[in-house]
Amino acid sequence: MKRSIAAVLAALLVLAGCTARNDNPPSSSEAPPSSSESSQEESVPSLPEVSPMEEIQVLEHAVREFGEEDAILQYDKNFSCKILYPVSGMEAVDQVIAEWAKQVYDEAAADMVKLSTTSDNPDGSLTYNYNSYLIQDRYASVEEVGFYAHSGLAHPIEPIAIFNIDLQAQRILASDELFTSGGQEQVLQLLADRLKEQEPDAADILDAAEMDEGWLSAALLRPDGVEIILERGSHLPGYLGTQRVLLSYEELGDALAIGSNLGGETEQPPAEQSQQPSTAPSTAIDTSKPMIALTFDDGPTVTTAKILGLLKEHGGSATFFMVGNSVQSKAEIVQQMVAQGSEVANHTWDHKPLNKLTSQDIRQQLQATSDVLYEVCGVRPVLMRPPYGAFNDTVQSVTAEMGTPIINWSVDTLDWKTRNATDTYNAIMRDVKNGSIILCHDLHKETGEAMVTVIPKLISDGYQLVTVSQLLEATQGPPQPGTVYTSGQSA
Ligand code: ZN
Repeated sequence: MKRSIAAVLAALLVLAGCTARNDNPPSSSEAPPSSSESSQEESVPSLPEVSPMEEIQVLEHAVREFGEEDAILQYDKNFSCKILYPVSGMEAVDQVIAEWAKQVYDEAAADMVKLSTTSDNPDGSLTYNYNSYLIQDRYASVEEVGFYAHSGLAHPIEPIAIFNIDLQAQRILASDELFTSGGQEQVLQLLADRLKEQEPDAADILDAAEMDEGWLSAALLRPDGVEIILERGSHLPGYLGTQRVLLSYEELGDALAIGSNLGGETEQPPAEQSQQPSTAPSTAIDTSKPMIALTFDDGPTVTTAKILGLLKEHGGSATFFMVGNSVQSKAEIVQQMVAQGSEVANHTWDHKPLNKLTSQDIRQQLQATSDVLYEVCGVRPVLMRPPYGAFNDTVQSVTAEMGTPIINWSVDTLDWKTRNATDTYNAIMRDVKNGSIILCHDLHKETGEAMVTVIPKLISDGYQLVTVSQLLEATQGPPQPGTVYTSGQSA
């Protein structure tokens, strides 16, 4: 009974504060686990120290139909890690899965090292638990469900990894081996139809999305069909959460490239509840009259509150592109924005130039900001503006995936440079015209001072002060994810 002995051993070692099971354990985040020989008397465990982050339970009732459980375990002061995975005795299969486990461990450990350079008290926790399935004794599959949190992340990440196994060939199938090349199109269509049923609000996004085989990269063989898993934020906007669609083997028919003898019973997937985005109150706009969008970047700050006061006094809205890490401490200002009908928008978590980041990091920058805004005001931002206006193809494809249009500007006040209310006023009055998107920064008090005269002047000149979403909607229809807009005038 390898499993129960291992469990007792693990429990003892957990008590000792630093643990191993069959693996040779890592003893600190700098030392990666060695996959070779194990030695029980290798190191004297350090005194028990409670991990500041509670160990997270994922998959309380895991299904285990394949292999024996193995693990990478580490509990130290700053980083607790528990990655459970199956070992089957099929060498080629075991190797791939064990390597995956080591890799996710290494990446998390590297995050902790990075975090320790900027934080005195870095703190992280990585947990993976798994379901394993047998499919008519011909195939097996493993679904690894993760939960990763650390003190540098606003919100935990819930990654998923999938392994489909051909038991006859004793190897792991690549995701593109599951469906015939001609069948892929059909599977994508089934997926889109089912997603629209599950998430009616995603219909427009799905219609606009160019769905490719990437959408099928997490396809899990199950006894009752193939489950397509779309990890939260990977293809659909993050607010829709992780989506799962189970397509029965019957339904898939010829589209299935593996064993034509698979013909399980059909089952409907459970309907998943997910949060719907709230929408900000909108004011009536006369689309026959001139309108412009004032935009303010880098807040929220005390100046933001001043600008909101002026908008309320004179009647008008603006769009605020906010930096995620400033939001929590100015929650009331963000709530005021929403209450007045101004637009809450995304300006990344900490203002890094997105054209220098990986798609993973871009996604995280936007998702974390969206999450914190939702948390404080109940509204998910629809629009984003990249810091410095800097974007590239990667930024466009990530924002397209996330359902987010990119908003730059047509009038640049250079308020950050001049830092003078009169100069800012003059810059706006010189260039403003119907459809302008005006770039200002509510980081600077001089910009707040400029608005004392700018806002009433624009209104008396006949402009409606609207949000960017209202402006684009009125002038060119709903803004498209991944597309860059600089004004309400058509290009
Ligand atoms: Zn900025």
